[in-house]
Amino acid sequence: MTTPLETSEQYYGRQANFEYMSASQLKAFIGTPGIRACEERAVAELNGQYVRPASNALTIGSYVDVMLTGTEDEQHAFRESHPEMFSSRGATKGQLKAEYRSVNDMVARAFEDEANGGIFMRALRGEKQKVVTGEIHGHKFKGRIDVLGDGFITDLKTVENVNKRYYNEGWWDFISWWGYDLQGAIYQELVWQMTGRRLPFYINALSKQTPCDIDLIQVPQDRLDEAMARVTPSALDRIAALKSGELKPTRCEHCDWCRMTKVIRQPRILEVV
Ligand SMILES: [Zn+2]
Repeated sequence: MTTPLETSEQYYGRQANFEYMSASQLKAFIGTPGIRACEERAVAELNGQYVRPASNALTIGSYVDVMLTGTEDEQHAFRESHPEMFSSRGATKGQLKAEYRSVNDMVARAFEDEANGGIFMRALRGEKQKVVTGEIHGHKFKGRIDVLGDGFITDLKTVENVNKRYYNEGWWDFISWWGYDLQGAIYQELVWQMTGRRLPFYINALSKQTPCDIDLIQVPQDRLDEAMARVTPSALDRIAALKSGELKPTRCEHCDWCRMTKVIRQPRILEVV
């Protein structure tokens, strides 16, 4: 039986996460230059034993997303379900709390671009939160695309700084660092399987800087292909075996989950750094 994926509860539900792989599962199991993989944490998350700590960054990203691409009802529903973002007393009652105020700047910046004849908002026109499915190396995959436009795929990102370079055994831009190239490659593949069209992948980026930076970036096809080349049959077979419990996951011994679940069985000899 196939798990329905229409609502976000279904799409992000446990059943769907076991049945399908996704770009975020790949990031958790395989990692990216900026995200250290931890198999045990990834499995624990699927089993509901580990819950990612809520972060302001995620909330800000979702809020910008709903303000730029959501309907009025969706915007209202988002505010209702995130009372922690709004001041509940005093003269500022109902307004965004200080730590979330950058959201207003980002949303305003996007509309300002449109008012000035820019194309940023045009790249957000299309089917919103479009669910796509398919198969990669014999494994079922799902994706939820911010915007599936007429002839393009877009993901909206709130970023620190679009020009920032990050270091991990080499320098990386924010797209590789956070695995957005991998995400784009998976979306492109699934859309191609569903429609027969291989579409360009764009990132609509808004920065949290003051003043806010705005960018529309096409991730070149060779970057998407390189990312896809890391999604090997053996990597996917391993993830499937980890998800089904056939294989025992390895621990990274660096992440929050590994810290939480560490058991001391013997002293360790201090190594020279
Ligand atoms: Zn770990």
